[in-house]
Amino acid sequence: MTTTRYAATRDDYAAWIEAAGEPSYRVQQIWDALYTQRRPLEDATNLPASLRTAVAAAFPLALTPTLERRGDHDQTVKWLLTAADGLQVETVLMISPGRATVCVSSQAGCAMGCTFCATGQAGFDRQLHVGEIVEQVLVAAHASSERVSNVVFMGMGEPLANYDATWSAVERLHGDLGISARRITISTVGIVPGIRRLAREEIPVTLAVSLHAADDDLRSSMIPVNRRYPLTELIDAAHEYARARGRRVTFEYACVEGVNDQPEHAVRLAELLRPMGPLGAHVNLIPLNPTQDYAGRAPLGSRIREFAELLADHGLNATVRRNRGTDIDAACGQLRERATAPDDATSARMQP
Ligand code: SAH
Ligand code: SF4
Repeated sequence: MTTTRYAATRDDYAAWIEAAGEPSYRVQQIWDALYTQRRPLEDATNLPASLRTAVAAAFPLALTPTLERRGDHDQTVKWLLTAADGLQVETVLMISPGRATVCVSSQAGCAMGCTFCATGQAGFDRQLHVGEIVEQVLVAAHASSERVSNVVFMGMGEPLANYDATWSAVERLHGDLGISARRITISTVGIVPGIRRLAREEIPVTLAVSLHAADDDLRSSMIPVNRRYPLTELIDAAHEYARARGRRVTFEYACVEGVNDQPEHAVRLAELLRPMGPLGAHVNLIPLNPTQDYAGRAPLGSRIREFAELLADHGLNATVRRNRGTDIDAACGQLRERATAPDDATSARMQP
């Protein structure tokens, strides 16, 4: 099987260089170009052109950019990337002064079936390989005006349901691309054994838990996997993570009008997270993004702010997330491949 460019290890390049009869210092040059300088191989001018061509042929890219959309005055860019088997995933770059964040997909589709999520509505296709995850970051890095400083696993898929590839990607991003551990965020729907396993890993990444409801009945109606890993177990695992790392866990809470945005929901949320202690939890309130198969909508901004204030009154640290990319369907939960859906009214907008 072909080893793709960002799946290949330094040893893979070394073996190839040796077999090609090239001097061994070429390995370091290739590695520097790919990971330190973060350049496309074609731009690695320290390598002879013939060698660049040969390396490119031996270690092909895993993903082909199929289309690209820009929003927020080019500060948000979304790509639809096509893998060798034709499956498509989405990657988003968000640039702000002095920082750039890449939101990567960990699976093609998702099997978790969260009702409000576009990816969940479309179902699961397959696991992504480590090279496909790392390559998404490089596609974005090559296009970014700022050096990529942060990576969030908040694109398509549930990272802890593809644990091994996700963790290998984290090791590459941290070790080879030099992204600091706290600037790598794994967002999970709440796979409890995965969270406990993460707590024992050497790289202390930031953990985000998608909570969205503070009681089991409501949460199970939005997030089916809550029946398997109910709230008490989930909070216990998150607490274990916070203790192991000495750092707080982020809890994402997508606000849906009339569903989870009432004052009693805020009080219940504060009670649920109380065992985490004042330093252990941070709540990130996200106005729900509209998706095709879910009727709920975001509350008014004033209600979300009241909700945040109520949490603060109960000792919980909360912020409201500014939505980016809603104009290009790149905001949370809107990542869904639409370009090939001819009956989808938005497909015309997706053409390059
Ligand atoms: N599977 C992981 C990571 C990908 S989803 C997880 O669920 O955490 C990234 C975030 O987007 C999660 O917090 C998810 O709950 C949230 N999300 C999904 N659909 C959304 C929507 N329609 N509006 C707002 N947030 C949404
Ligand atoms: Fe999957 Fe996360 Fe979407 Fe749920 S919210 S369906 S876990 S991607």
